[in-house]
Amino acid sequence: MSVKIYRNTTKPEVIGSCPQCHSEVLDGKQKYYCTNLFKGKCRFSLNKHYFRRWGEMRPLSKAGMSHLLLGRGIRLKNLVTVRKGHMFDCLGYLAWIPQFNRWGIEFEDIYWHD
Ligand SMILES: [Zn+2]
Repeated sequence: MSVKIYRNTTKPEVIGSCPQCHSEVLDGKQKYYCTNLFKGKCRFSLNKHYFRRWGEMRPLSKAGMSHLLLGRGIRLKNLVTVRKGHMFDCLGYLAWIPQFNRWGIEFEDIYWHD
């Protein structure tokens, strides 16, 4: 008896709708991205390792991304500021970040550790 395992490797999974153009957001290898990104019609993508800059080495989960795409905040813990190394917790929301000229996460309700 042989067991075949079918994997859907051709089509990335849809995990929500785009905050910019309302098209589908797909789960890629390195990032979550809008189906219109490669058509040049939309700018939405988010690297799965977006939080590495703040010391979080775990990738942003699919569940977390789906949550963000619904306009909800995700709880982030023990992040560390880039310059001074201060630790904080916060809620993260999807937002267009003008100084990076791209989509990113806005930190709100920041709680500083002692
Ligand atoms: Zn889009």
